[in-house]
Amino acid sequence: MKIHENKVILTCISLGIMATMNQRLDAETITIIADEFGYKVDFIKLEEDNEVEIQNKQDLIIRPPVVIVMGHVDHGKTSLIDYIRKSNLTAKEAGKITQHIGAYNINIKNKNLTLLDTPGHEAFSSMRSRGVRITDIAIIVIDSTSKIMPQTKEAINHSKLAGVSMIFAINKIDLANSKPEKIREELANTNILVEEWGGKYQSQNISTKTGEGIEELLDKIMLEAEILNLKANPKKLGKGIVIEATLDKGRGYITNILIQEGSIKCGDYIVAGSNYGKIKSILDENGKNIKKTHLSQSVIILGLNGAPAAGDVFKIYKDEKEGKKIAIKRYQIKREQTIRSQRHLTLEEIGRRITIGDFKEIKIIIKGDVDGSIEALSDALQKLSSDNISVNIINKSVGQIIESDVLLATVSKSIIIGFNVKPSLNVKKIADKEKIKIYTFNIIYDAINKIKQIIKNKLTPENKEKVIGNAEIREIFISNKINNIYGCIVHEGKIIRNHKIKIIRNKKIIHTSKIKSLKRFKEDVKEINKGYECGVSIKNYNEAKKGDILECYELVK
Ligand code: GDP
Repeated sequence: MKIHENKVILTCISLGIMATMNQRLDAETITIIADEFGYKVDFIKLEEDNEVEIQNKQDLIIRPPVVIVMGHVDHGKTSLIDYIRKSNLTAKEAGKITQHIGAYNINIKNKNLTLLDTPGHEAFSSMRSRGVRITDIAIIVIDSTSKIMPQTKEAINHSKLAGVSMIFAINKIDLANSKPEKIREELANTNILVEEWGGKYQSQNISTKTGEGIEELLDKIMLEAEILNLKANPKKLGKGIVIEATLDKGRGYITNILIQEGSIKCGDYIVAGSNYGKIKSILDENGKNIKKTHLSQSVIILGLNGAPAAGDVFKIYKDEKEGKKIAIKRYQIKREQTIRSQRHLTLEEIGRRITIGDFKEIKIIIKGDVDGSIEALSDALQKLSSDNISVNIINKSVGQIIESDVLLATVSKSIIIGFNVKPSLNVKKIADKEKIKIYTFNIIYDAINKIKQIIKNKLTPENKEKVIGNAEIREIFISNKINNIYGCIVHEGKIIRNHKIKIIRNKKIIHTSKIKSLKRFKEDVKEINKGYECGVSIKNYNEAKKGDILECYELVK
């Protein structure tokens, strides 16, 4: 704008933002400031390649469906995944230990499908919130000895919103108290009609204990996939989605990906989110090196220069330079965005905080083993914000808790949460010295509960004294009962029976107690207003003198 920075800073100050010359401002502030000087602002978007691809219809082939299993806790999700996987294993190499790669490639009796094994809802919703579609079909597992539970409803809602096909697996039919028809009825009551009830959704009674119905469930999945007519081009340069990324001490960054189009091979140049690199090796779930991938396959790749986020799109580039340029640009934009979203408040937010007065904030740094959990945890924690307290995630990343995290926590006055990661002894020592709190968890709900508890403690009400009125002792009537009666006149406010009082002599508090009795002439009264005389007795105290001031007060939260 060719305007001296002092002028810009002055404008900031006039808007209530104490900015320094090197400070980054958020978009809203920038727009307002530019407007002050008669400029309009155009923001650069996070560049996604908008290339229009012309698909050659002949190149498209049927691809295996990508399936996710969701449902309420204990209804049998894990058992179902395990059962299908075991059948898959026996069909191939029985007994071989498989690696966790976020998804399994299932091949049973010529049925190919990819079964996602990510922490169900969380990964699903974190991907959905990023607008990434990874699954084609959701299996909603419902325990037929139970009923439709909150998480069942949540799974249904998520799937509906994401436009994913649903198949209902009604589980535990081996049990005597199993009532699968009741579940179908309940589904109908929530406007989900299964085929047996004349609706469009497929459902299947299963038992993961006996294996009954699972073959049929797989058939129904394949039928659904056929109806969906899932096709992709295997000949293109590889493209897909990052499921998870972790840092392995020996092997570097390990990235689990799902191939959606084309295929990848060793030596390809890959860009995933803002990370890039040459693919060093490709491994399948059996830890076996493979040369080339097929559609809808889930594999591990080594060779990226960092851990991309769950849900990031990856793409193979022919031209190494072009790929690198895109990755670096994304990195720059991402960095700008995180820095901006850190400490700088929008004008609206500043105003809101001022009106609220004693606004409180909890700042958190999250470290974790995989990006999916970090995202889920960060989302869940931010949701704990309310009008009176804000939960701010200052930084989140994959990896161990290291010294620089503690440093950041010190300058930003944050707490550190480690999810499935721990600080080294040395880092712990530094944290103790700096009085930085590090909490570590293995379960997201535990972390949420901890922060809830911290919020509760922060918001514990303070007791403040509020003066109600004062009176001066004019006379002392020695009573033959236990307490003296003090003849007083109320100077300000009022005096109320049973309320706390301070006895003040020469501007010093000499005692605090309570008003035991309050009389106007001979009558007991509840309160006496300014300007009136009254008789007061003080609980457990007989030492007041003429001229003492009785200050009546109460505690307010
Ligand atoms: P998740 O929390 O949804 O993953 O549920 P799990 O797969 O861990 O299953 C919860 C419990 O139900 C476990 O104790 C399983 O052994 C049991 N279970 C799962 N499926 C069946 C089934 O078909 N029949 C019976 N009898 N028990 C089952």
